[in-house]
Amino acid sequence: MNILIINTGSSSLKYQLFDMEAATVITGGVVERIGESEGILTHKTFDSGDVQKNIITRPIPDHQAAMHLVADQITQGIDAVGHRVVQGGESFKAATLITPEVKKAIEANNPLAPLHNPPNLIGIRVAEELFPGKPQVAVFDTNFHQTIPEKAYLYALPYSYYTDHRIRKYGFHGTSHKYVARETARLMGKRPEEVNLITLHLGNGCSISAVKGGECRDTSMGMTPLAGVMMGTRCGDLDPAIFGYLMDNTGLTQSELDEVLNKQSGLKGICGKNDLRDIHDQAAKGDKNAALAVDMFAYQIKKYIGAYAAVLGRVDALVFTAGVGENDEIVRAKALDGLDFLGIDIDEAVNNVRNPEAHTIHTADSRVQVWVVPTDEERQIAIETQAVLDKS
Ligand code: ADP
Repeated sequence: MNILIINTGSSSLKYQLFDMEAATVITGGVVERIGESEGILTHKTFDSGDVQKNIITRPIPDHQAAMHLVADQITQGIDAVGHRVVQGGESFKAATLITPEVKKAIEANNPLAPLHNPPNLIGIRVAEELFPGKPQVAVFDTNFHQTIPEKAYLYALPYSYYTDHRIRKYGFHGTSHKYVARETARLMGKRPEEVNLITLHLGNGCSISAVKGGECRDTSMGMTPLAGVMMGTRCGDLDPAIFGYLMDNTGLTQSELDEVLNKQSGLKGICGKNDLRDIHDQAAKGDKNAALAVDMFAYQIKKYIGAYAAVLGRVDALVFTAGVGENDEIVRAKALDGLDFLGIDIDEAVNNVRNPEAHTIHTADSRVQVWVVPTDEERQIAIETQAVLDKS
């Protein structure tokens, strides 16, 4: 069975076509700068180790045009389509076959993810037109976090804000946390139910999850992806009074401040850069704020590890993933420094060697294993899409 995975962002569209029997990617790519004067499609076809690349630049006015452009590139048969949808709210505990009712329920979650769910829905509608009669499945970023207990997902606000306005922690990057948790258990020779893990998805966006016996029990992002550890440009956890204080004292409007917290804060807010490769270069040249940004980031990650060790009671492994988690040995070493009292001990020499495959970086004596596992959200969506189709 060939399953096409569609992941629509606010101005991008990523796709991959999986051959599920062979467990391989046949073709895939990304459309970027949708809605800008010049859009770009990068399409790759994989054929027994060879990669053929095709780049098309032209105005791509909207997601509908992007989907048509992608469909024109794919010459192979498609049996089903799996869609990444960011916000499933409480309506969706698991991946779901898309029906008219499901589309309505996704639309009802639009206010909770105004930048993401509407393009996700366009992706679904256009895919239905382009591939008529083929089953379509939605896999939500929030699914994996629906096992978080009430005491962990509620904010200490008037309870009616939860019942009337759906204010609660939903969590994000769920597909990535689930994929690396399953993959790490497999690599440890265990079933997911047998292990307690702290999964650290550290990319431009960052989230950390406590995963007990295969189920998520807490995660650092909140009602929106702004909460948790500081990120490339997002502030992470803040004293909530700061928002009103800044509105009163700077004259910035709510939407201007929102932009500051999302796009001008985090690592960038502290040192002017959000890519850790640039930040390490600057720190090496003596830039104090660059070094401070790395210290703050590592400190905040460390605090979540401590908190989630307490939530889990027993930790079998930590799992680093995504751009920073997979590649940045400095952040990993700093975040884990001094955690030997929790049984976490990494081998600095092994940590310093880049390895694109899943691997461990702990010492032989470390009670807790420390893994670096490349994430593969598209593959996880394909696996879940197939599971939904097998059941239906
Ligand atoms: P996104 O959240 O956009 O999917 P990624 O998971 O691709 O992000 O992570 C992107 C970030 O990963 C970059 O901004 C950079 O900080 C970091 N990164 C990528 N490669 C490296 C590297 N080799 N060394 C250090 N950091 C890296």
